[in-house]
Amino acid sequence: METDANIVVIGAGIVGASVAYHLADIGVEGVVVLDKGGLDVNDGSTSHAPGGLRTLTRSHFFTTLGIKSRAVYDKLPLAVAGQEQFYRLGSAQVANTAERFDSHKRLHEMGMSHGIASHLLSANEVAELLPLVDPTTVYGGIHIPSAGVVNTSLLATSMRHIAEATGRAVFHGNTEVLDFDIRDGRIFGVITAGELGTIRCEKAIVCTNIWAPLLAEKAGAPMPLFPGEHQYIYTKPVPALGERALTEVTMPVTAFDDLSIYFRQHGDHLGIGSYAHEARLVDPHDLPKTAVLPFTPDDFTGAWERMQHHMPGLKETGVDHGFNGMFSFTVDGMPVMGETPVAGLWSAVGAWLSFASEVGRVMAQWMTTGDPGMDVSPAHIDRFHPYQSNSEYLSRQAKYFYEIGFEDLHPSAVASSVRNLRHAPYHQRLEALGAEYVPFAAQETPLYYKSNQRLVDKHRDAIHDRAGYHAIGWSPIMGAEHLEMRANVGLVDWSSMIGPIEVSGPGALAHLQYLCTADIDLPVGELTYSLVLNPSGGVMRDITVARMAEETWWILTGKANMPAERAYFEALAPDDGSVVYRSRAEELVGIGIWGPNSRAVLDKVTPNDISNDAFPWYTWQHLDIGMAPATAIRISYVGELGWELYVPRSLALHVWDTLWEAGREFDMPTVGTKSLLSMRIEKGYGLWGSDMTPEYPPAASRMSWTLDQTKDFHGKEAALAARVDRRIVTLRFEADEAVVYGWEPVLMNDDVIGFVAGGEYGYNVGAFLAHAFVDVDYSATGTEVEVQFTGIRYAATVVASPQFDPENVRLKS
Ligand SMILES: Cc1cc2nc3c(=O)[nH]c(=O)nc-3n(C[C@H](O)[C@H](O)[C@H](O)COP(=O)(O)OP(=O)(O)OC[C@H]3O[C@@H](n4cnc5c(N)ncnc54)[C@H](O)[C@@H]3O)c2cc1C
Repeated sequence: METDANIVVIGAGIVGASVAYHLADIGVEGVVVLDKGGLDVNDGSTSHAPGGLRTLTRSHFFTTLGIKSRAVYDKLPLAVAGQEQFYRLGSAQVANTAERFDSHKRLHEMGMSHGIASHLLSANEVAELLPLVDPTTVYGGIHIPSAGVVNTSLLATSMRHIAEATGRAVFHGNTEVLDFDIRDGRIFGVITAGELGTIRCEKAIVCTNIWAPLLAEKAGAPMPLFPGEHQYIYTKPVPALGERALTEVTMPVTAFDDLSIYFRQHGDHLGIGSYAHEARLVDPHDLPKTAVLPFTPDDFTGAWERMQHHMPGLKETGVDHGFNGMFSFTVDGMPVMGETPVAGLWSAVGAWLSFASEVGRVMAQWMTTGDPGMDVSPAHIDRFHPYQSNSEYLSRQAKYFYEIGFEDLHPSAVASSVRNLRHAPYHQRLEALGAEYVPFAAQETPLYYKSNQRLVDKHRDAIHDRAGYHAIGWSPIMGAEHLEMRANVGLVDWSSMIGPIEVSGPGALAHLQYLCTADIDLPVGELTYSLVLNPSGGVMRDITVARMAEETWWILTGKANMPAERAYFEALAPDDGSVVYRSRAEELVGIGIWGPNSRAVLDKVTPNDISNDAFPWYTWQHLDIGMAPATAIRISYVGELGWELYVPRSLALHVWDTLWEAGREFDMPTVGTKSLLSMRIEKGYGLWGSDMTPEYPPAASRMSWTLDQTKDFHGKEAALAARVDRRIVTLRFEADEAVVYGWEPVLMNDDVIGFVAGGEYGYNVGAFLAHAFVDVDYSATGTEVEVQFTGIRYAATVVASPQFDPENVRLKS
């Protein structure tokens, strides 16, 4: 038998139900939802989750999804009359240490920046809110009133009822999808095991959560995701709770963040969930019919003892029963959203119930308009690098994200358990200089070099020491490297940061003119800075574009996000073969050399004329460096004379050594990436992902100058029409000890008027600088504001940008 559908949704958990609900809501007809199990109680995580609804998190992405999902859950009619599905009692997080309480203060400030209320609690206030808790055993906590406890199955059922009532969506339980009809890279149908047979459709979306890798295999699409076990137990009745029906809830869902344990109330019982056990991943091929595995009591012993310590009333009861539920873990802790390499086949997997409604809305909009309408880059299906599909990498990272679930990582930390996987070709040289690394795009990338300790004394007066939290991930050497590069010259391992994507062919000019906001019809040898916009006029990426030949350009862009960016750019190219994309980022290695003496160093090792007249700013040339060919690009993210050099991988060590030797005469140091960030903020350069994002038009990021309004470009109309309520300003802090990282609220008196995008100390300017989005009414130079971090308010002033070398004298020298 064959039937037709407009869009097939596979999986009827909270995510699939939400996709169908939102598709029906925007008027899409012919939505068919299939699930291999039941509908009211599904096989998946939805029917096993205790229902902790989160709104405020340390992630902007999740917070946005959470607060919008909550608004939908809040207004859903009851799925079953008289059965509560949303207990609006908020959530609590308990701190056992002063450090954790500081992290709650930062969470509170994240809430201020997002307009989400929260209340910090003393130990006694924790006990008032949570009468079971012994206040002498805790330090404090936070209450987030907008959060709560939901009955996830009932929410999914309510969404299903509404979608069905529109007549636009039909749900079928007990209908397993076995395979797809895929031809020429496009989906034509979904093949079911049930009586529906093959359902012809042009679009389908996989919402099968932990089972997603199995269907992805059928489609030949990557799905770097593992099911992971997570324990949940029900206690016997707790006398201190009195006699209550199981459906009665009087306390917020509560996490003991330091213990990786949480609990919720089920009437006169408690349910306790624990992440405080070894991460247990399950091979998707070994999954049972439902998302549940047998309870492993030994894993729970420690958690139970700790809960009894903090809630002594539990000593009068015991564990009734428990189970190991399963849900999805990915290489970076984020869901997998977007269109798979199979045209028309989409994915919305790995999303928590807290975020599921908004995930469904975004997917409905994205599948029908091509524009997700929000910044989905953290969860974009195109974000994965090839090495991330490796099963060893995947399982290590999935375990890691299970284990760090309750940690508040320092803003300068990079969340990765995989070290020493990828290296620069001259890695041994970096090692010998005492490089301190972070994994950037899984490559060991020097933050700073311990061998540069010698420069700290030289620049001591301009470096303000840091203590406590602010000293984590910081070293005075970072300041010394910054100052030395501005005064002299520095050699930079640029190999994990930026790489070229080559775009060529007879259609390349027209394609790139449409892709880029800037005019890229340049003479061969010149380059320009440009933005790429989304259909809403938000900034998808900033890039440098160089014309390499009549029909060949290089797009220089960040390596970390390169797979997603390339996919985005390429999707806007015609598919008639007139435009060819080729990444050269693995084959060519980037080395940076910047600073007033950079020309003198480079001059020693190249026969080419690199004088200012022969090789001006914003041009590129082929140079010989020692015995190697290099493509030298005269640009700088640090605002100094210098070059990005792209050299063949096999010759990169030779080029590094040649430059290093030439630099001895100048005592040239190597400089780590952290100094580049403090130098860029002195120059007022934007950083994509914080100062420029898909959520803001160029005008909000001070980037209107990149728009060539004489031509058509992607997102132009929306960008020019966009209302700018908030825009980026540069803040200069009064106190030397001020340090902010991003998402701290900016205050005028006690009103929140914006938030910090990012900041660093400006060692040449002599003050801490930050970029912040503030309400336009407060964006004038000279406006005095405050920025709050961990409860402390720092005075800052809106200042002109850039603070360093506004005339670009150094860059043009
Ligand atoms: C113990 C536990 C505690 C949790 N705690 C929280 C929490 O506090 N807060 C929070 O936000 N989240 C929590 N979660 C996570 C949350 O429950 C899940 O992320 C969410 O329910 C996933 O919803 P889903 O619709 O993506 O997947 P699921 O509910 O798993 O639904 C997937 C559906 O796909 C169907 N399916 C699979 N393969 C096929 C096929 N081939 N054909 C047809 N149908 C198929 C399955 O039958 C299933 O119904 C918890 C989960 C568990 C298990």
